[in-house]
Amino acid sequence: MRLLSTSGEISPAPLSEALRRGLAPDGGLYMPEHMEPLPADFFTRLPGRGLVETATEVAQHLLGDADIGERELADIVAETLSFEIPLVRQSDRISVLELFHGPTLAFKDVGARFLARLLEHTRTGDQLLTVLVATSGDTGGAVAQAFHGVPGTRVAVLYPKGKVTPVQERQFTTLGGNIRAYAVAGTFDDCQRLVKGAFADSTLNDRMALSSANSISIGRLLPQMFYYFHAVAQLEPDADRTVLFCTPSGNFGNLTAGLMAKHLGLESRFIAATNVNDVVPEYLDSGIYQPRPSRRTLSNAMDVGDPSNMARIRHLYGDDLDGLRRDVTGFRVNDQTTQATIRRIHADLGYLCDPHTAVGIHALEHVLTTQPATTQGIVLSTAHPAKFREVVEPVIGRDVPLPRRLAARLEEPVQSIDLANDPDELKRQLLDWD
Ligand SMILES: *Cc1c(COP(=O)(O)O)cnc(C)c1O
Repeated sequence: MRLLSTSGEISPAPLSEALRRGLAPDGGLYMPEHMEPLPADFFTRLPGRGLVETATEVAQHLLGDADIGERELADIVAETLSFEIPLVRQSDRISVLELFHGPTLAFKDVGARFLARLLEHTRTGDQLLTVLVATSGDTGGAVAQAFHGVPGTRVAVLYPKGKVTPVQERQFTTLGGNIRAYAVAGTFDDCQRLVKGAFADSTLNDRMALSSANSISIGRLLPQMFYYFHAVAQLEPDADRTVLFCTPSGNFGNLTAGLMAKHLGLESRFIAATNVNDVVPEYLDSGIYQPRPSRRTLSNAMDVGDPSNMARIRHLYGDDLDGLRRDVTGFRVNDQTTQATIRRIHADLGYLCDPHTAVGIHALEHVLTTQPATTQGIVLSTAHPAKFREVVEPVIGRDVPLPRRLAARLEEPVQSIDLANDPDELKRQLLDWD
């Protein structure tokens, strides 16, 4: 697989280069140069197949000619997907694809774990990769857990001291080994500035191979295609296989992966479900794309005012807005409806969902009323409800227990290094790290 940039100013790059750089040198996002449909027999074999089997075949199809051998790629897929992604039926027409059974209880584990292993296998020789990541809370955990113990890599997580929750902090400060956490005296923006400064520093770049685990990395996006196929594989044998996926969206990486899966032959349509940060539903309505500052909501992982992956979606569809509208319906859900949905689904079905999933469930229920009765709806559940206890508990009026794995982490001591908000200080730390 070779990759182009959405800005169109580069010649096709090998996967290893795209992974190392994160962002293309022309400022665009990497996209596969070609995406051939999967062979028809892939789809006839799909029903009832296992996650790893399905994902391996898709990965082989996409990356088979890349700088990774067949055996290696199979290992990368199996190690990435060492947890289940079950499809849980809620009603006649609605099922929930639970993407939150990974180590940090959110779907971002899938992308981060695949990227970590791809980087390990595509690095040159015995080079040690130093991955820098700035986090406001969740990304740091997913990246740290994904890279923990991965040979040839080490991770520096920069986070704003005192500004992340205790659970978030434990997810990247208790691992040790090849993971270091820096508590920065400053804000998340300061952390991001320090990371950007390090990437631009020539001394540092001469002395070590720096890499990014940023959410725009193509290595995080590719594996998100796998579970769309796995969802269809789990439908009941006699179910209509034309599926309406509902993807709760912020930066639109998850939806982009779904649209790419459609390019590979997945028969499906999509709902782009957002909270009140609704620039994309609005764009689908009016044809005008109007980014604006984000607003805070209860589903805060989707508080994005200028979604980065829109560049990829537009690349996929060119300027064919009508084509995009045939495949994607936009829908926005406010906080009040989000809370009401959490409460209702819990009371009626005994199912507890997090606020992001609730946005998706409500959007799907609404859009399904306009669809043929045989259409199956699948909501991507992006996080475990315990991850958003502060939102969920007051709504249902009782405690949401932390899964045992997470509760155990809370007992462990925080190990982090205090860091002044000063680029030289970070540089010294990185140069002294061995
Ligand atoms: C990141 C995130 C989203 C949004 O996903 P995108 O790919 O950015 O659209 C939704 N829900 C949760 C819980 C997330 O962490």
